[in-house]
Amino acid sequence: MRILMVGAGLSGAVIGRKLAEAGHDITVVDARAHVAGNCHTERDSATGVMVHVYGPHIFHTDDEEVWNYVTGFETFKAYKNRVKTTSKGQVFSLPINLHTINQFYGKTMRPDEARDFISEVADTSIEDPQTFEEQALRFVGPDLYEAFFKGYTMKQWGMHPSELPASILKRLPVRFNYDDNYFFHKFQGMPENGYTAMVERILDHPRISVHLNTAFERAEKDQWDHVFYSGPLDGWFDYALGRLGYRTLDFERFTYEGDYQGCAVMNYGEEDVPYTRITEHKHFSPWESHDGSVLYREFSRACTADDIPYYPIRQVREKALLADYVARAEKETGVTFVGRLGTYRYLDMDVTIREALDTADAFLAQGQDTPAFVKAPL
Ligand SMILES: Cc1cc2nc3c(=O)[nH]c(=O)nc-3n(C[C@H](O)[C@H](O)[C@H](O)COP(=O)(O)OP(=O)(O)OC[C@H]3O[C@@H](n4cnc5c(N)ncnc54)[C@H](O)[C@@H]3O)c2cc1C
Repeated sequence: MRILMVGAGLSGAVIGRKLAEAGHDITVVDARAHVAGNCHTERDSATGVMVHVYGPHIFHTDDEEVWNYVTGFETFKAYKNRVKTTSKGQVFSLPINLHTINQFYGKTMRPDEARDFISEVADTSIEDPQTFEEQALRFVGPDLYEAFFKGYTMKQWGMHPSELPASILKRLPVRFNYDDNYFFHKFQGMPENGYTAMVERILDHPRISVHLNTAFERAEKDQWDHVFYSGPLDGWFDYALGRLGYRTLDFERFTYEGDYQGCAVMNYGEEDVPYTRITEHKHFSPWESHDGSVLYREFSRACTADDIPYYPIRQVREKALLADYVARAEKETGVTFVGRLGTYRYLDMDVTIREALDTADAFLAQGQDTPAFVKAPL
């Protein structure tokens, strides 16, 4: 069949590759001038630093098949994400761990002592936390909540933590040991030559043709036997019911001669600092050596029609609108909505790849009867 992938991000590339290997002819279009979607990386010509153009991306997964998939297309170097945060004139280690607690309270507690101490300062009267704020107060108490969660969350989401659901802060956000590796996953790493090189290799197949700077219009749909659409779900319907809410990011790029902050990610938890974090991109490739440095100050704000949608808001209003769009989409034929924008969900890269592989399998089993959603957005 002649199949169109709208979007050359991980979703479009992985589905396209699997269907090409099964003998289908794949055309991939992307409105941008590069492949890899939001994971796009490019070397800064002045410093040689590999820059994560749309914000930092660290690969982490427990899914062995996905790990084998990515390492089949690119060498991954070991990388542990170790985040620091500046708060109240001091630098602390994140996620909150024994070092953070001891430093914050000026103590030398052992794990059991810290556990007892935190359960004393935590608000255990909150039995069934409903909001982000209640969840944080329940687990860490007011001091750590104010220093590490409150301001950061308000900047990130533009809302008070008492208006956000508890699910955003799902698990116990504290470690009673000195483990400062941000992720628990079995496989963690960084692509040696960046994500764009990896996606270029995924797309490098005789049955795949890629057209950049090419925006898809819905009127073109019938030229194809099937379309996989990784653009915005509401965009498919020309935003007829209104826009699904997103947060967008502004990156204030600056350079520095030397090492600016000594780590890849420095958060700023306080409300009076307007940005959420500074990322120093050369530290995402610790096996490389560069004199110069490229940094992003990251600001979060409401997404307008002219911005890149980053984080879906998925509050009550958005979920109701999403349900209406999903109902419309389910009546469409010849198209499957995929990826972070097509299903209006935050998806890590490994989840995106897992879903893309499963979507390709669904298509190989069901052909043109493949439904609008292989992965339900709600
Ligand atoms: C700030 C940020 C940091 C992240 N960090 C991490 C991380 O550390 N680790 C991790 O695992 N994941 C991370 N992610 C998630 C990661 O970015 C996604 O998993 C991944 O980008 C999803 O790929 P996708 O192909 O679904 O979407 P995208 O990468 O968004 O690709 C969609 C593509 O479709 C194109 N497109 C859309 N509409 C059209 C149209 N009409 N015509 C033509 N082209 C179109 C777009 O230009 C885009 O290139 C992060 C996400 C964000 C926002």
